[in-house]
Amino acid sequence: MNCGQKVYRWTKEGPVVAQPYKCVVGCTTCATLCQGNAITFPDKDKLRELYKKEGIWAKVKRELIKEGKLEPEE
Ligand code: SF4
Repeated sequence: MNCGQKVYRWTKEGPVVAQPYKCVVGCTTCATLCQGNAITFPDKDKLRELYKKEGIWAKVKRELIKEGKLEPEE
């Protein structure tokens, strides 16, 4: 319930993940602050493998180059 992105919402039944796509990749604030230790994230190496496999790093790089935030490699 301490998420600045408002990923969680409190309901009569308790907290729910209301807006999962607002979660920020790499953030772990909610897990760090959860007193019940109830929140976990995928292993970083597995996540890196998935990013590589799905071409996500390449897509991000292309977008950063397009936005002028990264110089293209020669
Ligand atoms: S990891 Fe960060 S952005 Fe995602 S739900 Fe937790 S606090 Fe919010």
